[in-house]
Amino acid sequence: MAARRAATSSRSTTVRFSSSFQQQAAASTNHRNKALVATTAGLIAAVTVMQQQESNKTQNLFGKSAKTAVKETEEKFGTYWPRNIMILFGPPGAGKGTHGPKIEDLLGIPALSTGDMLRAAVSAGTEVGKKAKAVMNAGGLVSDDIVVGIIRDRIKEADCKHGFILDGFPRTLAQTKALDKMLAEEGACVTKVVELEVPDSVLEERITGRWIHKASGRSYHIKYAPPKSMKKGADGKPIAESMKDDATGEALMQRKDDTATALTKRLAGYHNETVPILKHYSPNGIVKSVNANQGMDGVWGEILAALKRASA
Ligand code: AMP
Repeated sequence: MAARRAATSSRSTTVRFSSSFQQQAAASTNHRNKALVATTAGLIAAVTVMQQQESNKTQNLFGKSAKTAVKETEEKFGTYWPRNIMILFGPPGAGKGTHGPKIEDLLGIPALSTGDMLRAAVSAGTEVGKKAKAVMNAGGLVSDDIVVGIIRDRIKEADCKHGFILDGFPRTLAQTKALDKMLAEEGACVTKVVELEVPDSVLEERITGRWIHKASGRSYHIKYAPPKSMKKGADGKPIAESMKDDATGEALMQRKDDTATALTKRLAGYHNETVPILKHYSPNGIVKSVNANQGMDGVWGEILAALKRASA
């Protein structure tokens, strides 16, 4: 996945890539450099061939087709490199659902939202959905067994081979320990926790003004990001029938737990049960905090900085 994304990147990236490859080749005196050169060679091979817009049958400088070079590099990452396992952390309304998909695009690994998965189970009327529905609507937490089971199965899927981003999980110390244990069984661990910080006083307005396009997860806000179709009634409130998704024109909806009452319970759960997770991971030096109480661009800039390696 990473290789495929690199293969479609810009020309200037290729130039930077090539010159760093030459420097690495000159300095390749140890195994680590050799591994890097081998990996980089596969990527450059793919980029070069794709930029020349030749077919997959075309042989590149290394005697391989672009498709083969990309596949080999993907296999190498999937087999020998550690998985990138991130937790996107923050209270309800902090922006996890907004920034998660952007991180997903950037890193090429999937964002897994337990909230989305549970809502899908509720809509589908599965056994899990039936158990979760009432507690979710009231803003409570679904049992640890259920959510741990959902994540255990989901991260075995092929798209999680290179890593994944957890949104809304873990939410309790018991879930955290279960996650650490299931990762340790394969020699993996959480590699980054990005905390989105927003004061409680800001969250109520964000949550109660939120409207969602269910199929895509696109999120709107009556004040900060209204849909183009929004019309207001005499009372100054948006008319529900006018709330339509900009892209598809389909109806938007409000989550049943996006009420001031449910938010009080969700915030209490967040502070009492979820925040202690930060202390659990802090000694590993992987927790990065972002000020999410600012404009979207500012938040995204801080997230990008938090995602970088310390030495980058
Ligand atoms: P979210 O979309 O993350 O705000 O989650 C919506 C609701 O789903 C939460 O208020 C909980 O009821 C439930 N939920 C989601 N993730 C978890 C979790 N990790 N543990 C327990 N309940 C969860």
